[in-house]
Order: sequence, then structure tokens, then C-alpha cells
Amino acid sequence: MVLQELIRPNIWNLTPYSCARQEYSDGDATVFLDANESPYHSPLNRYPDPLQRELKREISRLKGVAEDCVFLGNGSDEAIDLVLRIFCEPRQDNVVAISPSYGMYEVAANINNVEYRPVLLSESFSLSANKLLAATDRHTKLAFLCSPNNPTGNSLSHEEVEKVLRRFNGIVVVDEAYGDFSCEKPFREELQEHDNLIVLNTLSKAWASAAIRLGMAFASPQIISFMNRVKYPYNISLPTQREALEVLKHRTEVEQWVRLILRERERVTAAFARLPLCQKVFPTDANFFLARVDGAESIYRYLISRGIVVRDRSRVRLCQECLRITIGTPEENDALLKALNDYPR
Ligand SMILES: *Cc1c(COP(=O)(O)O)cnc(C)c1O
Repeated sequence: MVLQELIRPNIWNLTPYSCARQEYSDGDATVFLDANESPYHSPLNRYPDPLQRELKREISRLKGVAEDCVFLGNGSDEAIDLVLRIFCEPRQDNVVAISPSYGMYEVAANINNVEYRPVLLSESFSLSANKLLAATDRHTKLAFLCSPNNPTGNSLSHEEVEKVLRRFNGIVVVDEAYGDFSCEKPFREELQEHDNLIVLNTLSKAWASAAIRLGMAFASPQIISFMNRVKYPYNISLPTQREALEVLKHRTEVEQWVRLILRERERVTAAFARLPLCQKVFPTDANFFLARVDGAESIYRYLISRGIVVRDRSRVRLCQECLRITIGTPEENDALLKALNDYPR
């Protein structure tokens, strides 16, 4: 892969903004009169580290990925928008993505005026690399693959994703937002083998920190350097960097939450499958499941009347009459099952 052929020329030639905290970093100065900050209200008066080095050190250790292969964003959504802006010339280039999948890929493509080409999964939500590749042409810069996939819950076949990585002459974004719930080998372990791979992770799901907005992208140092050039200089606030460092210290607790959620997932999906209103529970590798039911929309509205909100996906392709349900605490899951047992037929 020749990166220069994939990156927009204006981005390739960009002279990035150089901020005060980047021009002067490390060293042992104590008087900072370079960034027009207030000297009062420490530590919030100071601009945060634009490259989040302390946090990246911890994430690098945790994920087994070299520090210069890590980008941190204001949620994974920032990374999704950035890759579109770095690789895709508006009104000229296009991207492919599995369908159904996470809605942000299409919204971010539309915002950037980049043609979005959804490629339907099979009825059982599996990926065919050949079908995806057949939808590409010489203007296709990106392929979005989400595994475990949202809203379907299943992991994509590792072999099919690898086939896309080997054969596609563009960048493959593998979104593993739900990877912490899956037993599949994470794709970040294959960065060395594929220089066209970008893997997305987040603190929003298993790490229980959606409020702080911290997403990660793992890729070659060269790709990461372009993401750093295009991002806003101080894209991760100091409170976010601090809270992220804090939650990373609680790895054992997070792993316990994940185990409990997985145990509950088995219990809830089994009980759900026995409900008369249930047609099918689809296999899941995430902290939610997709189920086909009799009358998704009325069940959705009934659950709202009982104070329970699930996601009605019945208007999404291949998801007719489907609800997407997140696994909650045991008490929340009991409330869901009790309400559904009371559902008037
Ligand atoms: C929830 C989710 C994310 C997380 O996005 P953040 O911006 O990091 O909160 C990313 N990808 C998918 C597929 C998701 O479902």
C-alpha cells in the first residue's frame, strides 16, 4: 500500500497548527507565560497535553500496542470523522461499509459529502469479503467493518475480514467497540501484518465511561501521525485524561463487570427466547442482543409505558420486527423480563 496515493493531497501537504504546549514540551520550566492562560484556578487554567502522553503510555501497556500506534479522540466518533477527512476527497471518493451497522459511518460520510456504499450482510449477518470488494472501485478509500457488529451483535468472520485487509487497496477500519465482550482475537494484534488497518476501541462500553468521551484508534505510526496533524490541538480535555487514567486503574473491577454482563446475557437471552412474543434471538458477542419479535413497534411502545427503553431497529434493513436490547443490571433485566411476561397478547 502506498499511503500517499490514499491520502488527500491537501492533507499530505498540510503544515499543522503548532500550539504552545507542543512547541515547548518536557524540560523543566516552571514559569509558563507562553499560552495566554490565566495563572489562577490551577490545574484547569492550563491547556492539556495535546498528545496525551501519560494516558497513551497506560493505554499502550493495557492494549499491547506501541505508543506511536495510538490515537486518542473525543469518542471513536472523532476518529471516524477524521479518517473520512484525511482519506476522502468530497464528491469524488467513496467508502464501503457493511449494512446494517453503526449509524455514525454513514452520517460522518454524508457530513463530509463522501459517497457511502452500504453492502448488505447475509440474512444471518455474516460478511462476504467478495461481495464487499465487488462494491469498491478506484475511488474507494475506506471500508468500515464493525465486529462485534452493532446492531446485530455477532462477530464477523476473522478470515473474511483478513481477506478484505489483504485484497482491498484502501484503508480498512475495524470497529471493535464491543471487543471487550468478545472472545475473538482482537485485530489490534495484527497491526504489524496489515499497514492498511485502523482498529477502533472505546471507553464507552465495557469500560463504563461513555460520559468522558474517550475513543482510541490503533494504526501504523504513519497513519497516526496524520490523525494527529488533522485533529483539533487539544481534543481531549484534562478532566477526560484524568478520569481515563483513573478508570484504567480499575481493570479488575471492569473485568468483573464484563463477566457479570456476560452471565446475565446468557440468562436474559435464554429467558427472552422462551417468551411467546419472541421469534428469534440472534447470536451475540456484545453487551446487547438483537431479537425478532411479533410486533416490534407495539412492544417497544408498551415497554416505554412500563418505564423501560430499548431500541426499535425494525426499520433497519435485515432487522424487520427487531428490537436491540442492552444487558443491564440483574434487577434491570428482571424488570424487562417481568414486563414482557405481562405483555398482553
Ligand atoms: C458505541 C459505539 C461506539 C462508541 O463510540 P464513542 O464515540 O467512543 O462513544 C463506536 N462504534 C460502535 C459500533 C458503537 O456501537
